[in-house]
Amino acid sequence: MKLSSIGEFGLIEKFKKGILFAQRSVIVGIGDDAAVLKISKESKYQLFTTDMLIEGVHFDLSYTSPFQLGWKALSINISDIAAMGGIPTFALVSLGLKKDAPVKFVEDIYQGIKRVAKRFSVDIVGGDTVSSSRLTINISLLGEVERKNLILRRGAKPGDSIFVTGTLGDSAVGLAFLKRANHPLSITQKTIRAHLTPLPRLKEARALAQTQKVSSMIDVSDGLSSDLIRIAEASKVGVKIYADKIPLSFASKKGSKLLKKEPLDFALYGGEDYELLFTVPKSQAGKLSSQFTKKVKTHLLLIGEIIPPEEGYQLLNYKGRTIRLKAGGYNHFSRGSVTDNTLYEEKLK
Ligand code: ADP
Ligand code: MG
Repeated sequence: MKLSSIGEFGLIEKFKKGILFAQRSVIVGIGDDAAVLKISKESKYQLFTTDMLIEGVHFDLSYTSPFQLGWKALSINISDIAAMGGIPTFALVSLGLKKDAPVKFVEDIYQGIKRVAKRFSVDIVGGDTVSSSRLTINISLLGEVERKNLILRRGAKPGDSIFVTGTLGDSAVGLAFLKRANHPLSITQKTIRAHLTPLPRLKEARALAQTQKVSSMIDVSDGLSSDLIRIAEASKVGVKIYADKIPLSFASKKGSKLLKKEPLDFALYGGEDYELLFTVPKSQAGKLSSQFTKKVKTHLLLIGEIIPPEEGYQLLNYKGRTIRLKAGGYNHFSRGSVTDNTLYEEKLK
């Protein structure tokens, strides 16, 4: 059997099966944005996550600077800690470097990491440096969360409202432009920034966690459809979202038009937005919104609701027809990123 037949998530499921925990302190192991560990009798949990970026798979040096790379590598790890409701603390940075890489280039990667570390008060306490035929950056990050503020993927219940911060699809639009040599910067700048130098929604995540009303949360790394389905699977529920409620930025709409593609496609299947996708019991939704906006200016948008598991995954399209929401987005070992119109149109039929 080849990896391509089971895909990234099938593979992780296989790994998970053989793993038994010798430590009683593992509260959540494989399967959420970060592991949750009970390391002391304090009222806090330790969070632990890692992410790897590899040249040719996650980035292309023809349009990514080393500074941006370092920035993104740490940002996406912080995003996973944020998605648990926690704050990041300590990082290990491991680099696989080509032998002929200029020292300045590597220093620039580190400058990007340091910039984000400073911004979010993360301490870099170690790592590993090896030679590699492909540039590789792996960051492991610890974090912590008050036990009462921990938010997992698995707490969504039928009737809950589904919310998202910010706008979706910008990063994928930016990537599409980066892959083209010529693009009008006046229109594409915002989306390209979203792709190359994303910022984790840490402040927002903390404000949400502190309301203690959020029933489940994930950060959007693979695309709205895939990540929402991961909440649904973990919570054993169905989901229904409305196409006309999905937040699309002006930049993404304009950019998509230039690319002759649907901005909704980028939002559903694009990924790497690092926005927060979360659920709240309907009766609490209004109160949560007002509590949140008192602390943070970021927009929260209600995009759908959790439904019973037997009703499956639904998308109410622009024509008012309910169709099946399928996981798109990036899956290592399977087909690449699904950001083409054909799939979307297929759904609309
Ligand atoms: P995210 O997109 O939030 O970073 P991933 O899709 O990378 O999440 O991973 C999903 C879950 O699977 C996480 O809990 C992660 O720790 C776990 N996981 C991924 N790869 C491995 C692996 N090789 N061994 C054990 N666990 C893994
Ligand atoms: Mg995540």
